[in-house]
Amino acid sequence: MGHPDVVVAGAGVVGAACAEALSRAGLRVVVLDRGAPASGTTAAGEGNVLVSDKEPGPELLLAQASRRRWPELLAELREELGPGRAEAEWDPKGGLVVATTDDSVLPLREFAAAQREAGVRAEPIGLDEAASLEPRLTKALTAAIHYPEDAQLQPVLAATTLLAAVKARGGQVRSGVEALGVLRAGNGAVRAIRTSHGAIACAAVVNACGPWAGAFAKACGAPIAVLPRRGMVLVTAPLPPGTVRHKVYDADYVGAVASGDADLQTSTVVESTRAGTVLIGSSRQRAGFDETVRFDVLRELARKAAALFPVLANVPVMRAYGGFRPYAPDHLPVIGEDPRLPGLWHVTGHEGAGIGLAAATGQLVAELFTGQESTVDATPFRVGRPAVAEEVRA
Ligand SMILES: Cc1cc2nc3c(=O)[nH]c(=O)nc-3n(C[C@H](O)[C@H](O)[C@H](O)COP(=O)(O)OP(=O)(O)OC[C@H]3O[C@@H](n4cnc5c(N)ncnc54)[C@H](O)[C@@H]3O)c2cc1C
Repeated sequence: MGHPDVVVAGAGVVGAACAEALSRAGLRVVVLDRGAPASGTTAAGEGNVLVSDKEPGPELLLAQASRRRWPELLAELREELGPGRAEAEWDPKGGLVVATTDDSVLPLREFAAAQREAGVRAEPIGLDEAASLEPRLTKALTAAIHYPEDAQLQPVLAATTLLAAVKARGGQVRSGVEALGVLRAGNGAVRAIRTSHGAIACAAVVNACGPWAGAFAKACGAPIAVLPRRGMVLVTAPLPPGTVRHKVYDADYVGAVASGDADLQTSTVVESTRAGTVLIGSSRQRAGFDETVRFDVLRELARKAAALFPVLANVPVMRAYGGFRPYAPDHLPVIGEDPRLPGLWHVTGHEGAGIGLAAATGQLVAELFTGQESTVDATPFRVGRPAVAEEVRA
């Protein structure tokens, strides 16, 4: 390959989805990661592709587009690459959101009603039906909503499948190469990316560095406000099939997702994987890049999960891990070209939903890049909004 058209910095699920969509559009793409592909936050994700936790608005529209795109995209890649190289454990299992107190019944029902108005299948169900969908769930429920559109995939496999397609189309994926900044042409636009292995000439650079996107943007001279929000997950030993059948979470999770509070928040999120393990989340805390495993957080997650699924009180925990969700202060992704530096694109800030949102994000980037009409309105995600690039406002 001669000079690439685009260099994508960051081979997480978001960078991989951008690279896939750009290479599908016929562009020559190189993807760089200072580590291995999918070794950042993507490896920490539980893999949920959710519409249930989004309130009506731009993020829900992106989530709905992504929920439509993921199965279609994976089917196309299976066709292109062959089934052995395109397996991401797609599972349209559905979600179940439950209330366990009287106070949370009305907010849950109102939230679901607003989502239905926005086209989400949010189906109030009786407690008997909830028990038949999830026989091991506590009987101490006060309300339940079924979200048949919620799905799950294995995020590392999804990212590597997307990157396999990039390579199959003649692109390159380079591990162990750090992006250090960009070089500009006389007109101020990007002419190359500077890396730990030398400069690579290109017309555009995509900053898909996840929670480290703020650092790379700053190194390019175009800072954006993207910060890490820590999350931890407990993983049980494999349990008998059917122990947990859906993505199940307590209604208080939606409040925690939307909150900008720096303090630690935990809410109950439980789901199984194809391997039989059960993933128990979720915590949210702004603590910089502090990697300390906090036992008080894990204890709280375990206690709440066992209250929701009493069977979990007596199962062995295999491991616990954490990751850093990349977030912007207004909790919306950042997607688009930087108005201060033509040729530099930022695609980041997907916080706790980057796996779910990746398919439509990649598609949107390719549409914007090639000047096509976009599937989703990109305006709310623009780089120059005040919350993200303050000096652009000035
Ligand atoms: C505990 C937890 C659970 C989650 N569960 C879900 C879920 O169920 N569903 C969901 O949709 N989302 C979930 N998320 C969020 C999701 O994981 C993220 O939104 C998503 O992975 C972000 O992907 P990314 O590609 O932007 O970032 P990353 O996966 O972090 O990728 C960025 C990459 O950039 C590389 N990089 C950084 N700086 C440089 C540089 N200068 N040069 C070269 N490479 C660089 C890194 O090595 C990394 O590989 C969860 C997050 C956490 C922490």
